[in-house]
Amino acid sequence: MTIERIGVVGAGQMGNGIAHVLALAGYDVLMTDTSADALNASHGIIGANIDRQVARDKVSEGEKAEALARIKTTGKLTDLGPTDLIIEAATEREAVKVAIFEDLVPHLGKDTILTSNTSSISITRLASRTDRPERFMGFHFMNPVPVMQLVELIRGIATDEATFAACRGVVERLGKTAASAEDFPAFIVNRILMPMINEAVYTLYEGVGSVASIDSSMKLGANHPMGPLELADFIGLDTCLAIMNVLHDGLADTKYRPCPLLTKYVEAGWLGRKSDRGFYDYRGEVPVPTR
Ligand code: NAD
Repeated sequence: MTIERIGVVGAGQMGNGIAHVLALAGYDVLMTDTSADALNASHGIIGANIDRQVARDKVSEGEKAEALARIKTTGKLTDLGPTDLIIEAATEREAVKVAIFEDLVPHLGKDTILTSNTSSISITRLASRTDRPERFMGFHFMNPVPVMQLVELIRGIATDEATFAACRGVVERLGKTAASAEDFPAFIVNRILMPMINEAVYTLYEGVGSVASIDSSMKLGANHPMGPLELADFIGLDTCLAIMNVLHDGLADTKYRPCPLLTKYVEAGWLGRKSDRGFYDYRGEVPVPTR
């Protein structure tokens, strides 16, 4: 299977990062989003992110221009049908993802591979809603995509070897490292990371520490480069809550129950950096803890 044209669904923080690395690796990218604002902003955001690599001499101005020229956008999901591979990176809600795949299926080329960047949702269940479970798998990038080395590749129960090999080939061309994970809730990285973040929110909720003391404790005491609450804001609190719910429902174990304070922040629309407020308030010059 030769992969040259890749469709990306969702122009949020992950979709933009995925389009960025694919285009720099020479793939033609067609990106879509239901939000015209997100789609219109994408070239500017990706350009600004590539500028950081230009400043560090990792990418030349010419390579930047070529990469940006390879990224096209469309408001019409079904335009992605004729691509070789589709990476879905829309909001972490199963109903949203199922609707995207169901709308896409009648317009797909016969060999097009479908993948999801989901952080936690069952690949087998998503695949079962398409006409090609054998050509469906999880393609899970880490955030920020241009910086993080790992991509988790997740086989659904029906994924065939050629599909896995084609996706692994894409990861290799991106210069990243693939880790193979089985299709159980939240796979490897988030199965371990999210309960730690959720526990940090419980630690805050129970008054054991403040936002600042929890984050500095984990940075200085466990040598983590970011504190867990800072990291939660970076990931998006809605995404963190959605992943905890998938772990809780999928593994039916109360140890995964989402902290009520996390739910409260999401209910308030305080989703972290993307909405300018989460465990920190980002509206001023420096982030200010909200508790
Ligand atoms: P985001 O909120 O930044 O972006 C999601 C985008 O999807 C938005 O622009 C939204 O308009 C768009 N969207 C919603 N419904 C759509 C539809 N029907 N069709 C097309 N676009 C639609 O979220 P994100 O952080 O980029 O996360 C996207 C996916 O990546 C999720 O599945 C998430 O679990 C996964 N992910 C996130 C992270 C992270 O750290 N944030 C890391 C790895 C994987």
